[in-house]
Amino acid sequence: MDTISIGADGYYHPASDDQVAQLIKRANAERLKVRVRGSGHSIKYAIFTDHFRDGEGDKDGIDILLDQLNFTGTDQKVRIDKAKNEVRVKAGCHLGYDPYDPAGVSNLVNSLLYQLDQEGLAVPDVGGIIHQAVGGFLATGSSGGSLMGAFGDQLVGLRLIDGTGEIHKLRRDQPQNDLFLAAGVSMGLFGIITEATFKLVPKFNIIGEQTTTTLDGCTIDLFGEGSGGKPSLEEFLRQTRYARLMWWPQNKVERMVVWKARDMNDSDYNAQTGSAERFKANPYEEFPVFGDSDIPAESGSEDIAEGIAGLFYSVAGNWHRLLAKLQPSFIVRVFLNIVGWLYPGHILPAVIKAFVPLDTDLDPITHQPSGPQKFWDVWWHGLPMDNDIDDKLVPTDFTEIWIPISKMAEVMRKLRDFYRETGYAATGSYSCELYSAKASDFWMSPSYGGDVFRVDVFWFGYNEGNPATDYYPQFWNLLTKDFDCRFHWGKHMPINPDYLAKQYPKWKEFMALREKMDPNQIFVTEYWRDRLGIEPYTLKQPLVPLKPEKTMSKPAKTIYYFGFYMILEVVLLLWSPAFLMKLAGIDPSDAVWLRLIGGIVAGLTIYYFSISLRQIRALYPIPVYERTAVFLTALALYLFDHAALAVLMVGIVDFLGAMWTLWALKSEAKK
Ligand SMILES: Cc1cc2nc3c(=O)[nH]c(=O)nc-3n(C[C@H](O)[C@H](O)[C@H](O)COP(=O)(O)OP(=O)(O)OC[C@H]3O[C@@H](n4cnc5c(N)ncnc54)[C@H](O)[C@@H]3O)c2cc1C
Repeated sequence: MDTISIGADGYYHPASDDQVAQLIKRANAERLKVRVRGSGHSIKYAIFTDHFRDGEGDKDGIDILLDQLNFTGTDQKVRIDKAKNEVRVKAGCHLGYDPYDPAGVSNLVNSLLYQLDQEGLAVPDVGGIIHQAVGGFLATGSSGGSLMGAFGDQLVGLRLIDGTGEIHKLRRDQPQNDLFLAAGVSMGLFGIITEATFKLVPKFNIIGEQTTTTLDGCTIDLFGEGSGGKPSLEEFLRQTRYARLMWWPQNKVERMVVWKARDMNDSDYNAQTGSAERFKANPYEEFPVFGDSDIPAESGSEDIAEGIAGLFYSVAGNWHRLLAKLQPSFIVRVFLNIVGWLYPGHILPAVIKAFVPLDTDLDPITHQPSGPQKFWDVWWHGLPMDNDIDDKLVPTDFTEIWIPISKMAEVMRKLRDFYRETGYAATGSYSCELYSAKASDFWMSPSYGGDVFRVDVFWFGYNEGNPATDYYPQFWNLLTKDFDCRFHWGKHMPINPDYLAKQYPKWKEFMALREKMDPNQIFVTEYWRDRLGIEPYTLKQPLVPLKPEKTMSKPAKTIYYFGFYMILEVVLLLWSPAFLMKLAGIDPSDAVWLRLIGGIVAGLTIYYFSISLRQIRALYPIPVYERTAVFLTALALYLFDHAALAVLMVGIVDFLGAMWTLWALKSEAKK
């Protein structure tokens, strides 16, 4: 088995399941934490080991990137079985292209969804972006906005390496599938997912539209049970195949952007769309495109709009910090303070209105109404409607609260009243996303047991302050009191494990299995310990013994067997030093020093047994240096006539031992 060491980027890049298992065993032996990074789109603490730093790694942890994990002997991460309508995919494969993949491996052509599409296949739903890696998307129970299909529903098989290094091949259709249902959404706490298998559907195109209206002008009864010919929000989400609402709740704005789509059927194809075979996609554009709203993709103004929005939010969100830094003169300060005072009530609403124009607003260039925006597209490109948002230009933090869908109207009223009463402190400058998720059978999916409504509150990532303490608690307090809330595992969430435990019927079973899968808590970081209330792990607590590796590696064996020779040395040095001294031709009156050396050799013996039994590969070369040093010392003493031949003989035995280990290390490296 090849030894795997840390890369220059601070990550370990295992290329096989064996190497993943090796890292896990090493973590157990050295008491390190282990986490896997997918595409890094969750909040950082949920992903990494406790002290991970980009480019440095973590001295107490092993952070893994699965970019090198391919099907044996290939550079492929995807295996499609058209006869079975299934795909096996390595967990590090990205759903789509990830522009910020640190390994630089991701591209569109090697992405999962694109390869499915090329083979005429698809999954029925994906999330708002597709940068994620398969393992990361599954681990957090991520899902798109549909009550009619879900990515997780398609999962039929998982390959997972648990906290002891054991490989589990789990299938949904196994008669005892508890472990599958628990591991499907397990936040990296059960082990490392290395492969997943999904059932597929035929590929499809989507067609849809986006409308922007005032709250009253919306064609959905947003806060009621449905009236005046308008469906309730629940009805709308149940009837619409794909839907996502974006609420701009600011005072004087109060707008709702409704994105909806469905699969295209034969009657949807026309001269504009082309036929299903010669399809001419007209993709959705997230930012307003002035002057050419019919074919927005060709206008090219979207990137500029995104850049301007990012700049505006950066300045607005760091106002106080900028003022402190620039230290302007008194007059300028007064002026800027007036601007700051006008910001929430006047400047912000005007800017949002420009970026989120009502359908009835006139386009400044064409003087035609701005919307609604119609779009049609291939499934994998059209469904992730936020995919073109740049993580660096417009970075966003989220807390996403999942609530049983039957409570939707009540939640909406509560939120509306809260926004109106609290004003800017609650609305902030950004929006709130509303969507749904289909009931899931994965125990820890926030939609376990029933369809849910999701309230996803945005925070601009470059804002000063910490949303987890400065902004989100007001929403957690507001909604957890009256509703059974669960939280998206990849986004900000409160620390309240007792509350959470009550929300998940299978919580206890999940925790019991977690303990079995990861007995030494190598996957449990401080973040997850707090969020899930996992008992503190102290070094006083005895380690649960791990199953020993089936075979000890060659270098480990050489160190282990040499340990027995050292035991002999220790016994002789401690028990009968005079005998040894006589052999070496030394005055027996100095025997006390030999006993002390016996103690030191005893310590070294423990060290030899520890590193060989635990297979701590990084330390195998140390005994080679140590025994060579003993030999060189003995040789020098002998050559300069300070010691008898017996001393040199001891040195030679050490030297031979060192060469034995060195040979084993080299032959293993060659292999
Ligand atoms: C702009 C944006 C849009 C988003 N849109 C949506 C959306 O529409 N719907 C939705 O539900 N969510 C959405 N999310 C959240 C996102 O889907 C989740 O955070 C998801 O987990 C990210 O996947 P990732 O590959 O980046 O995983 P990471 O964030 O890197 O990791 C997520 C978790 O999975 C663990 N993990 C990763 N790989 C493995 C593995 N192989 N084995 C075991 N554990 C593993 C990690 O340790 C971590 O705990 C969005 C996030 C952003 C930033």
